[in-house]
This record gives sequence, structure tokens and C-alpha cells, in this order.
Amino acid sequence: MEQDLLNDFGVSCGLVHPGTYDGAWLDATGEPTLASICPGSGELLAEVRTTSSAEYERVIEASTDVFRRWRLLPAPSRGEYVRRIAIELRRHKSALAGLVSAECGKILTEAEGEVQEMIDIADFAVGLARTIGGSTLPSERQDHRMMEQWHPLGPVGVITAFNFPVAVWAWNAMIAAICGDTVIWKPSEKTPLCALAVTRIVAKVMEDDGWAGVFNLVNGKRQLGESLAGDSRLPLISATGSCRMGYAVAETVGRRLGRTLLELGGNNGLIVLADADLELALRAIVFGAVGTAGQRCTTTRRLIVESSIADKLQRRVAKAFGSVKVGDPLDRSTLLGPLIDQNAVDQFVRAIDSVRSQGGEILCGGEPIKRPGYYVKPTLVRARPDMPIVGEETFAPILYVLPVADLNEAIEVHNSSRQGLSSAIFTSSVTSAERFLSAAGSDCGISNVNLGTSGAEIGGAFGGEKETGGGREAGSDSWKAYMRRQTCTINYGDSLPLAQGVEFPV
Ligand code: NAD
Repeated sequence: MEQDLLNDFGVSCGLVHPGTYDGAWLDATGEPTLASICPGSGELLAEVRTTSSAEYERVIEASTDVFRRWRLLPAPSRGEYVRRIAIELRRHKSALAGLVSAECGKILTEAEGEVQEMIDIADFAVGLARTIGGSTLPSERQDHRMMEQWHPLGPVGVITAFNFPVAVWAWNAMIAAICGDTVIWKPSEKTPLCALAVTRIVAKVMEDDGWAGVFNLVNGKRQLGESLAGDSRLPLISATGSCRMGYAVAETVGRRLGRTLLELGGNNGLIVLADADLELALRAIVFGAVGTAGQRCTTTRRLIVESSIADKLQRRVAKAFGSVKVGDPLDRSTLLGPLIDQNAVDQFVRAIDSVRSQGGEILCGGEPIKRPGYYVKPTLVRARPDMPIVGEETFAPILYVLPVADLNEAIEVHNSSRQGLSSAIFTSSVTSAERFLSAAGSDCGISNVNLGTSGAEIGGAFGGEKETGGGREAGSDSWKAYMRRQTCTINYGDSLPLAQGVEFPV
């Protein structure tokens, strides 16, 4: 069964595979390996060799060399490669989704959605390759033209988290590539096979035409991420992961005055007012809290609900949580798969202990499930906003119910989180919805009305405020993060007027 999932990518179950790619696969055999464990069963899938320091240097040099040529290829031609990658991703969609499901534990439909997101962002990038451009601005000087143009940055370091083991790379890599950058990917140490598979798919497209080295791969743990962050040959580090990681990366990259694009943790709130359509809200709450086993950055963690309907709503959510089918993520009937590893289960147990000691009431769930793999029950907790555990992002399906008096208190409680990624309100009042979206409303990067906190489309800019890091990826004008801006003024007259009317006769 496991071998079937790996066949498409030339990976053999239980064996060690090279984990470094700089246009060719490198394999320093003495280096330690990363074990890819299937969270649904706890069994070993295969191993991937980490990148040695000599290999790291080769990757940086290769990506810098290729960058010198890639940046000169017209952007629409770069887009043509991304178009071909999108075709290959379509061909491998089912196989790659199976691997995502097996290695990171998300249920098959969500894994397919993740691969579809890669295809969507690639398609988006193809169009963008013909539209990125700067504006022409009025010059105050006679016979002058002023304009902005955008140039590629260089090799970009992309550090990714385990919970979106392929899509986050694509959000970055597809856009960076059409912008003229090369990419060095350091995936999560928990999902090395997904990265291996994606790199193999992409390498086939690029190697045929001599562009191997545009998309590179290094594998390792936190220390490798630190090396990328500290490397001044990489003008941009795009890092997705915990806030703890973001603080460290921001500090290291800041010390060398490099650029960061940070996509960090979220503690997302969903407000339900008494005038809401509760059927709609219920569906959004259950998907938001239980989807990906609560391991999305956009997972709904706080249910902020008007007191008059709190008891009724929490009863319905508890009932829905109780009927969610838990099991093998590759089984189509499963709605809740495993957490990523035993450490995640331990963190869940610690959070439940804190709930109890801080006076929360567990309405359903609250314990791990005894079976092979790393499963926990979807958990609903009646809580108070001042409980410290409510301020934590526990990466598990735990939802805190926080009753409030009215919209004003709802927004206050909502915005009390240290992070500011995704937010939602359910109401049938246009006034309440607009207040939630106003400058005095939600302080998040994503704000939704009558839909949940998770499941963003790639067309919009994705990211959040406060401890979420402030970065924006994917659609809209997020491409600007991967380029450098240049203001150019051209004098087509026969005199040399100075700006601000300065006279300097020589
Ligand atoms: P993590 O922070 O443990 O690891 C993420 C990546 O950072 C890994 O590749 C890891 O090796 C690397 N890393 C860790 N410490 C580092 C350091 N000091 N310097 C450089 N690299 C370092 O996160 P995780 O457990 O893999 O993922 C879960 C977290 O990611 C959650 O907090 C979740 O909210 C967040 N996340 C955010 C987004 C977003 O778009 N905002 C998307 C997905 C996940």
C-alpha cells in the first residue's frame, strides 16, 4: 500500500533517498537522514538524506549562477516553464495528493485541494508573467519621464512548514520564478518525501531545457533553516511556520538587513451573532476547527458567540464533533485524520491539562484516541478570554467557546489575540458585517463574512498581522515581495533642469 503511494516519484519504501538538488541530485552518503513517518500508522515510509555543508555551498553557487541567466529570460518565457509545470502537476495530482495524505496526514480531499492550489497558483503566475510592471509617474521637470520598474532579486530561500508540505512552496516558487528569481527550498523535516516528489516533477520540466537549478532543494532540521536565514547571498527569506521560528528568522535576517516574508501562526476567531444563519455557521465552524485535524494556520480556534445563543450553538457543535468520522486519512469516508506526530499529541494533552487547571469546561473530546498513529478527539471547551491557554495556538482540533454580550465585546475579544491571520463573522446584519470589516473591526489580514476562517483562494494576498508576521503571499500584488523596485527618470530634452527648482549654474 505505502509503496503504491511512492511509485510515481521513484521512491522506495524503507530506503534512503538523496535530499539535495542543485540541478542534479547530490548524495553525500555520510550525512544523517530524516525519517518520513506516516502519521496515520506511525510507520516509516522512507528516509531522506540531509544536506552536507559542501552540498549547501554547491546549491547556493548553482542557484546564483542560474539566476544570472534566468533573470534575463523574458518574463513571459519564464511563465512558459511555469505553465509546463502546471501541466505536470495536473498529471501527478492524484499521486501527489496520496503522498501528501500519507506523509502529513491530511484527509485525501484536502490533500487534493492542496495540489489543486499548486496548479491554481501556477496558472495565476503564468498570467502574471505578462502583466507585472511598474507605473509611469508625472515628472515635474520639462521633457522628462519618470517610471518604476521591477527587477528580480536573486536566489530566494523558502522555508516551509509540515502542514502544507507542497502548496506553500508553490505559492512562493511559482511567483518567484516568473519574477526571475531562483529558489532554494528547505522543507519541513517532517515531510521530506513530499518535497522530494515535487522537486522530481519540476526537475523533469526544467532539465529538458537546461534550466535545472532554478528550483533547488536542501533538507535538514532547524539548523539548516538558520543557515539560510544567515546567508547574505540570499536577499529574501520567505519563512512559513511557528511564531517562535519567525522571531528567530526575523532577527537573523534583520541583522544582515536582508528581507523576510513571514507567514506565521494564527489564533483565529469566528464571531457568531444572534441574527446569524446557524446552519451556515455550524458547517463553517466544524470545517474550520476539525479540518486538517486543527493543523491549519487558519484553523478556527476561538468561537466568539453572542451569549443569547451560546448554549444552543455549543450543543450543536458538540453533537457535530461527536459524529465526525476519525480514521485513516486515505479512506474517503474519514473527516478527521491524525496529528503529525507524538509530540503534537503530547502538546494536545498538555493544552487539555491547562484547560482544566485554568477553569475551562470540556464539552466533548479532550483525549487522544488509542490506535496506531497519532489521533485525538475533536474537542470543544467552554472558556473565558482571560485563560492563558486560549491565547496559545495549540496545533490540534481544540475549539474554545467564548460567550460575549454584543458585537463590541466580540470585536474586542477577537482582537485580543497576539496573532492576526484569519477572522470571520456570521450575521445577517449588513451594519454588523461592515463594522467588522471597518478600520475599527477585525485586525487580521483575512476577514470573511458568512464564511469560515480557513480555505483561502490563491487570487487574494494571503497573510496576517501582528505575530503572524505581516507577510503576504500568493495573489494580488504579492509578487512585489520577490522583486526589487527601481525608479528611473529619463531626460529627452536638451537642458538639465534640477528637481525642486534648484539652480546650479556651471
Ligand atoms: P516550525 O516553526 O516548527 O517549522 C517550520 C519550518 O521552519 C521548518 O522547516 C523548520 O525546520 C524551520 N525552522 C524552525 N526553526 C527555525 C529557525 N530558528 N530558523 C530557521 N528555520 C527554522 O512549524 P511547523 O510545526 O512545521 O508548522 C506549524 C506552524 O506553521 C504553525 O504555527 C502554523 O500556524 C504555521 N503556519 C503558518 C502558515 C501561514 O501561512 N501563516 C502556513 C502554514 C503553517
